[in-house]
Amino acid sequence: PTVASDESTTIYEPQKVAIIGAGPVGALAALYFAKGGWQVTVYELRGDLRNPENRSLNFTKSINLAISERGINGLRTVDPELTETILESAIPMNGRMIHDTAGVQSSQRYDVHGRFIRSIDRSYLNGALLDELDQMSNVELKFNHNLKRLALEKSEATFEKRLSTGELETVRATADLFIGADGAHSQTRYHMMKYVRLNFSQEYIDSLWCEFHLPPSPKGDFQLDPNHLHIWPRHTFMFIALPNQDKSFTCTLFMPEDMFKDIVGPEALLKFFLTEFPDVVPLIGEENLIGDYLKNQKLPLISVKCNPYHYRNKCVILGDAAHAMVPFYGQGMNCGFEDVRTLWSHISSTESLTEALDNYTAERHQDLHIINDLAMNNYVEMRASVTSRTYLMKKNFQEF
Ligand code: FAD
Repeated sequence: PTVASDESTTIYEPQKVAIIGAGPVGALAALYFAKGGWQVTVYELRGDLRNPENRSLNFTKSINLAISERGINGLRTVDPELTETILESAIPMNGRMIHDTAGVQSSQRYDVHGRFIRSIDRSYLNGALLDELDQMSNVELKFNHNLKRLALEKSEATFEKRLSTGELETVRATADLFIGADGAHSQTRYHMMKYVRLNFSQEYIDSLWCEFHLPPSPKGDFQLDPNHLHIWPRHTFMFIALPNQDKSFTCTLFMPEDMFKDIVGPEALLKFFLTEFPDVVPLIGEENLIGDYLKNQKLPLISVKCNPYHYRNKCVILGDAAHAMVPFYGQGMNCGFEDVRTLWSHISSTESLTEALDNYTAERHQDLHIINDLAMNNYVEMRASVTSRTYLMKKNFQEF
């Protein structure tokens, strides 16, 4: 913000930032800018996810995810206290637990020094950030606002606001800076492309994903070791499970589309699970397994790369909007949090916003392209390499 001062007073002229998307990355960006003294307005397409009625609307997102040091550092840098509170509800995962078809489990620790990643509930994390923003007088959260147009030459965005009656209303907003944190299919990115020569590529992989719920035992305990990320690697496909606070696990089946198509009806599904993941069937229960498979969507996985991430001092894209990646490295959101921290470090240390955004793109794009590729490669590692003898020997060598 511009600062004018005379002997007795300091007058801040806060700059206005409009953040498109109140997902984890948009919410964290809002926190950084708000704490930095900016006037922040967040525009979110959907209703408030803290209202349980709206939660089912965000059906394209996993229920829990792995948060690691990269993401935690992004949180901690802006609010150490909030970070501690958030992490209290996260569950440490010290390594992978590999399940073979005979039901034998073998643990592969992540780190010789005992460092670990954590499983966290996505809605809780996102909600905790929104709660924090609610308490700040320089932040406004606007839900049910769909970005339709971005006229960067006028610094003006146009939204379609959904009223409680279902009617749509046009809303116009101006800002000094627009931040697109509106996910893989970003409208901000789409509009920004009209102003800047933005190189862009996207790739859908062959596999889809489908979620299952593995409940606590009848006694209310975890049915699997909670301090592992469980993997059932089967070379061309895999099943994984991450622990939740309520002692359940959220499981995901990643599999080529054709294999999903071949499983028609409950009998075929049970046969498939009894052959490939026999130990999973009693844990989830036949009825729930069938119910989840029929009810839950089979969703695609997209990888997005682009460069640059900004236009002059007017607009910048962060998180999945800039670099959606396949989830096998568990780094999508973590990288988004790192984007925010890196962006803010440039903005807070550079006089010119244009220069700060130039430096941000220059610093970030190579790292992001590489982590995107690593995420793609880790699919092979998780579903196949973890079972190979050479891999295990190498791992043992590294760990001891
Ligand atoms: P999003 O979470 O997509 O949020 C974008 C927001 O923008 C949404 O709220 C959306 O409603 C809003 N929006 C969209 N369009 C508009 C519009 N036109 N106007 C206004 N608002 C709009 N990452 C990890 O770090 N660790 C993991 O373990 C992990 N596991 C994953 C597992 C799966 C199965 C998947 C699919 C992803 C996983 N990820 C993981 C990736 C992670 O989900 C994303 O990287 C993360 O959600 C990105 O956050 P974001 O805020 O950038 O985008």
